[in-house]
Amino acid sequence: MSTTERPRILVVGGGYVGLYAARRILKKMRYGEATVTVVDPRSYMTYQPFLPEAAAGNISPRHVVVPLRRVLPKAEVLTGRVTTIDQDRKVATIAPLVGEAYELPFDYLVIAMGAVSRTFPIPGLAEQGIGMKGIEEAIGLRNHVLEQLDKADSTTDEEIRRKALTFVFIGGGFAGAETVGEVEDMVRDAAKYYKNVSREDMRFILVDAADKILPEVGPKLGTYGKEHLEGRGVEVYLSTSMESCVDGHVVLKNGLEVDSNTIVWTAGVKPNPVLSRFGLPLGPRGHVDCEPTLQVKGMDYVWAAGDNAQVPDLVGRKNGNPNAWCPPNAQHALRQARVLGDNVLSGMRGFPQKEYSHANKGAVAGLGLHKGVAMIVMGKMKIKLKGRLAWYMHRGYHGMAMPTWNRKIRVFADWTLGMFLKREVVSLGAIESPREEFYEAAKPAPAPVAAKTEEKAKAS
Ligand SMILES: Cc1cc2nc3c(=O)[nH]c(=O)nc-3n(C[C@H](O)[C@H](O)[C@H](O)COP(=O)(O)OP(=O)(O)OC[C@H]3O[C@@H](n4cnc5c(N)ncnc54)[C@H](O)[C@@H]3O)c2cc1C
Repeated sequence: MSTTERPRILVVGGGYVGLYAARRILKKMRYGEATVTVVDPRSYMTYQPFLPEAAAGNISPRHVVVPLRRVLPKAEVLTGRVTTIDQDRKVATIAPLVGEAYELPFDYLVIAMGAVSRTFPIPGLAEQGIGMKGIEEAIGLRNHVLEQLDKADSTTDEEIRRKALTFVFIGGGFAGAETVGEVEDMVRDAAKYYKNVSREDMRFILVDAADKILPEVGPKLGTYGKEHLEGRGVEVYLSTSMESCVDGHVVLKNGLEVDSNTIVWTAGVKPNPVLSRFGLPLGPRGHVDCEPTLQVKGMDYVWAAGDNAQVPDLVGRKNGNPNAWCPPNAQHALRQARVLGDNVLSGMRGFPQKEYSHANKGAVAGLGLHKGVAMIVMGKMKIKLKGRLAWYMHRGYHGMAMPTWNRKIRVFADWTLGMFLKREVVSLGAIESPREEFYEAAKPAPAPVAAKTEEKAKAS
């Protein structure tokens, strides 16, 4: 961390909002006008809409993340966690990857910490659940699922086999429906290489507390998505929830009980709880309370956007809903980041602030290779697409939305290779404990056992 004479703009979080806002500020800033410091516990931004495809092996996990130091060469990037902020002294406390926490003074502040998985105190969930918010989880899920096929293929115990081949997904929004669609697709492909495992031996279960899935694309496409998944053999249970999953024994409220080694939790998100230590005004659900200019209420040097902010939806309000708020999605995060970047510079220069207003452009979801749903909003018209065309829209939209040309090209290259070479179906589960083999080799050798010689054999 450098000391700086210039005013410091501190960006907390280097995800969607943090990356795009910092880029915008650096692009439009005059030389030497300010120091932009981005703090994030990860050294990369994650393009979350591609996590299900990374879990299914369609895209290499490294291509789903954007290295912050590479795309923000003019910023000061610190790898660590902001733990508290003292607004009176304008000082943030940073816990770096290693070593003592330290204080960092700032003049302007951008809050872009996104959301965390929303969980409930369900017995067994913390021990058994797998989230889907980061690339580490997507890689872990892929290795874990393929490992279950390895286990099932090589055991003679029917109970172990059944548990390994039962996959439970809780939450049927974007993240859940896309993940079950992609993973089912991958496993169907992978099963061809296992002598003792077929798709018919497996059980895929999708559970949601609401009475529909994929609410983002509207009821009709949501119903299509459900029927499509059911057609592929996924059991979809709506208006119910998971009561417990101790040791992988899943109990649903509707009475269903199954044993599973794989419980994927995608039942929504909530704002990062650390926000309560930042001395900011928070809304009823823990979001930072923002003006339509993305300035935090009552604080003219702080801005927030994305999943951790409650931002009035001016288009929704103009159309008659006085309580409309921008939903937490990438579409808003990206556009808010640009307005936020401009407003930070205007704030520094004493110019007026611009309000954020964006009309929903629709939503696209992939449900596995060549399968998907898409709702495109054009003025008052809503175009609904399903199947292969929707899937092309999904890939086209997200492929182009992926930050930086470097990453776009890598993602399109992965897809193109996948068309000609078959999908990789190898589990690299051991990657999570890479030192184990070396540790075993470096251990003192066990006392040798004498070889059974011919004389000994005769004597015995
Ligand atoms: C599986 C999945 C699929 C999705 N699919 C879609 C889709 O198809 N379409 C769509 O529009 N949206 C989709 N979304 C939602 C979209 O990805 C989010 O709305 C978007 O990422 C929000 O951006 P953000 O900057 O607010 O948060 P994030 O991108 O999550 O960034 C937050 C950053 O803050 C960092 N951070 C956390 N704590 C701290 C701390 N204490 N100090 C410093 N930094 C911290 C995090 O490491 C992270 O880098 C999906 C989300 C998921 C999980």
